[in-house]
Amino acid sequence: MRVPLYLQPRLEPPLSSLLEATPFLHSLADALGSPLNVLLPDRIAENAERFRAVYRKHHLTGRVTFAHKANRSSALLRRLAATDPGSTGVDVASLGELQHALSCGFTPDRITATGPKDPRFLWLAARTGVTVHPDSLTELEQLAELVRKFALPRVDVLPRLSGFETATGSGVSGVKVLSRRSRFGTPVGEVGALLDALERHRDAVEPVGVAYHLDTTGLTEKAVALEQCVVVMDELRARGLDPRIVDIGGGFGVGYVEDAGQWERYTTELANAVLGTRPALTWRGHGYGLRNEGGTLRGALGLYPAHRPTAGPGYLDDLLSAPAPASGRPPATLLLEHLYDLAVQPGRALVDQCGAVLARVLDVRPTDSGDHLVRVGMNAGDMSLEEHGVLVDPLLLPREGGQGQGDEGPVGIRLVGNLCLEADLITRRTVYLPRLPHVGDLLAFANTAGYAMDFHAHVAQRQPLARTVAVVRDGGSWRWCPDEEYWPITQSGGPAS
Ligand SMILES: *Cc1c(COP(=O)(O)O)cnc(C)c1O
Repeated sequence: MRVPLYLQPRLEPPLSSLLEATPFLHSLADALGSPLNVLLPDRIAENAERFRAVYRKHHLTGRVTFAHKANRSSALLRRLAATDPGSTGVDVASLGELQHALSCGFTPDRITATGPKDPRFLWLAARTGVTVHPDSLTELEQLAELVRKFALPRVDVLPRLSGFETATGSGVSGVKVLSRRSRFGTPVGEVGALLDALERHRDAVEPVGVAYHLDTTGLTEKAVALEQCVVVMDELRARGLDPRIVDIGGGFGVGYVEDAGQWERYTTELANAVLGTRPALTWRGHGYGLRNEGGTLRGALGLYPAHRPTAGPGYLDDLLSAPAPASGRPPATLLLEHLYDLAVQPGRALVDQCGAVLARVLDVRPTDSGDHLVRVGMNAGDMSLEEHGVLVDPLLLPREGGQGQGDEGPVGIRLVGNLCLEADLITRRTVYLPRLPHVGDLLAFANTAGYAMDFHAHVAQRQPLARTVAVVRDGGSWRWCPDEEYWPITQSGGPAS
């Protein structure tokens, strides 16, 4: 057996103790089938509170809003709706998500509508009094027209900006321009026309601030964007408007792998495997963006940085604390000086540690390579961490809680799904487990509530869609209910017994 390259998941309570409750999880999967999504709604409230603590540390006010698109669950939304209405909210990006948020108990003042919108979405948002983030000048005009035509109340708006650029003096040979192209939002370079429109449509829309969302882990890029938003806010004030909120979107990230060393070793060995200096680590030598060109490593590793020293609330803290490039002042100070509220829209980070996907082992067989093929009762759409470039090991939950015989010791496995498709791989890499799974065991993919659990789920070949359950700790045991039956109304904040 080669030296195993583990990528063990970062686990915190209550997820860590849930995944030790092997008989409970087996009984759930026996009753409800494989795959099965298991959610811990209490944890989303705890995560929101951790973001709030960063606000308090910096003496900032404003809302933490959950980007709904990360998970479809009702339990998570209802649990979050039950937290302090003044400090938490939800961000919706479709008509269906808006309807869902309203039905889960969010009042319109706690809802923001982002992303490109169609007229029905705009109408329901305007009719109910939701805050709208116009994605473009055209959308702003459309909204204003709708408000007038149907005599709707004035709508609070935060136009989304993009295309931030800065010239920094770093480097001898002149300036470096930082810019991220996005197909969403109005480029700051074209903000003049946007401000004109906001002034022109004052009868229909009330500009309460500006927003951005950058899909990057780069702190500097985000600090640059935040500074430029403050400049645009000043422009709005100069025009006699009264903006109060800077919304810096999401992208605070999650640390998936606990051990920095494991991540370091894995990525190093992956590069070696691509170069051919060690045996392959992936299906058909897939390089996750790396390739071998005549003995030289080319390309870039297209993987999510699965081990993160700081992520989520810690990342927000870093962003607020570090001096921003143009002004040299920490963003928290800039916001405080202007008395602006800070809004954030974490998706992934708010559902960190909020759930797991369980899959039944259906078949185990050896292959020529020495690895075993393990087929599970789900497909790539049911657990799409791979889609996000997140590589992490599942946990093995044995059927009877016991060890198998004669197969101790680490094994390499290929995880394949339940579709008749060569490409239906749960992950393209060889996964190492402490022992060989047996038919009937469960594999638990931990920390998959953000985007992995239901974002790409589909019904190819009429294979079953995962059911989703909410679980709550009740003294020494666990209680569960279907996701749609969860309401945060019992004393422990859990499903009614
Ligand atoms: C997707 C999205 C988010 C959430 O991003 P995460 O990386 O999950 O935090 C926030 N705001 C907007 C506008 C988005 O589209």
